[in-house]
Amino acid sequence: MDTLRMTAPPNNGATSNIGLFRTLEASLSRNSTGRSFCIAGRFHTYAELGARISEIRATIKSNIPSEEKLVGVVANDDLGTYAALLALWAEGRAYLPLTPEAPVDRNARITARAGIKHALCSDDNTSFLTCKAIRTDALPEVPLDVTFPDHRDDDLAYVLFTSGSTGEPKGVPITRGNLGTFITGFDALGIPVTATDKCLQMFELTFDLSVMSYLVPLLHGACVYTVPKNEIKYGYIAELLEEQGITLALMVPSIINYLRPYFDEIQCPALKHSLFCGEALPLDVTTEWSRCVPNARILNVYGPTEHTIFCTQYVFDPAGANKQVNGVLSIGKAMFGSSIVVVDEQRKILPPGEKGELCLGGGQMTPGYWNDPERTAQAIFLMEHEGLIQRFYRTGDLCTIDAQGDALYLGRLDHQVKIQGYRVELSEIEHHARAFLVRTSAVALAVMNDAGNNEVALAIEGPEGEVKPLIEYLRSKLPGYMVPTRTRFVAEFPLNTNGKTDRKALQAMFTNPA
Ligand code: AMP
Repeated sequence: MDTLRMTAPPNNGATSNIGLFRTLEASLSRNSTGRSFCIAGRFHTYAELGARISEIRATIKSNIPSEEKLVGVVANDDLGTYAALLALWAEGRAYLPLTPEAPVDRNARITARAGIKHALCSDDNTSFLTCKAIRTDALPEVPLDVTFPDHRDDDLAYVLFTSGSTGEPKGVPITRGNLGTFITGFDALGIPVTATDKCLQMFELTFDLSVMSYLVPLLHGACVYTVPKNEIKYGYIAELLEEQGITLALMVPSIINYLRPYFDEIQCPALKHSLFCGEALPLDVTTEWSRCVPNARILNVYGPTEHTIFCTQYVFDPAGANKQVNGVLSIGKAMFGSSIVVVDEQRKILPPGEKGELCLGGGQMTPGYWNDPERTAQAIFLMEHEGLIQRFYRTGDLCTIDAQGDALYLGRLDHQVKIQGYRVELSEIEHHARAFLVRTSAVALAVMNDAGNNEVALAIEGPEGEVKPLIEYLRSKLPGYMVPTRTRFVAEFPLNTNGKTDRKALQAMFTNPA
């Protein structure tokens, strides 16, 4: 695969990216006196953001060869980091976020796999990088340059690495065309964003929901409110919603699970749009949440990183009957520019009401995994739909689509789980645990905590032993949210009727400990 320009079949269906970058350029010029970011309680204007973009793009030009299209960015919570993302786009490059909180080893493997030679960094914490660091925090002033020259739709916008079942994270490249299609689809949702809006950005830059959370406000001159890394997320978010009067918020459902005990005290009349994505949205919590946000339209949106941020939407009706299965709100209909179908094991499209794997088509779909044609061939296939041969992405989500075209989420077909909204392949945890334990079986599971959120548990086969060295080893290999918070030794793993390890029985040992 050409790693500089992503090739996809002509019917990829992506909307042109040019309009998106024209809008961004106009917004940066027009709103110079307005507030662009509120970071750790400090406001920055669009003029400040523009000045930082201009400085960083001059540095990119003089330090990074023009043929180097993918550049690392250390994902800090500051203006310099956001300006670096936009400066890379202005220069026709793409970004790969690297978080200092991830294990050095994981960042090193991602950097090597993506072929990253340089990373832009807004502070002096660069020692963890295994490529050349370019500091962006004390650059000389340059004339303002917030133009975004035209680039092709198949040029890259960003690459994110998600948990991989074989122990190696997989790279998901997203093109400018993919991003352009997402923004067109978002605009069609009827969520008007203006320069008076205050928008929440609660996500790590390694999680693609961050892209909507900073990009949509910046396109319209609105202010982005970030959540500092050292704060307790849900508490800080509640404060932002109430005290700052956030008007647009995209969150993972685990945030409202944590806030649920405080719902009686929470009132956010300023919130106009409350979006949830990343994991199943329980109807009961949503109904209770709707009373905290009396003026908000609540939307459940759905989508994998591979299909650019999100691609379906369901509007919650606080007064009416909502579509749900097992208490989980429907994920709704495809957004403009995307299509959804449910297929059987032979990849035949199933009629309404039947259960199968949800597959996604349209211009938001990645051209394929980064330098991994094998995984790409497993996940993306060609199929005739509405008279056209189109590419479809297999989500691994078990769904049905009803007669009105609303999809209902029934669970996963594999061992992928969500921890605080982050996508986690349990087999990636098992891979590393087994590497440490040597010839000992270990099974990773998601178990629910008292707040109703998932935590990682690890069952280890064998007599009681010390677990600390294993946890320390896992910490050196995996991001914090993937490190087990509960462990249990089981003399002999139970087997199911097929003779396989009985994961359900192991799960029960954590939820109903003897
Ligand atoms: P990610 O690539 O991290 O965005 O994870 C994508 C996966 O998250 C999907 O395949 C689903 O399993 C899950 N997911 C995302 N949004 C929702 C939602 N609204 N409801 C249920 N599951 C969701």
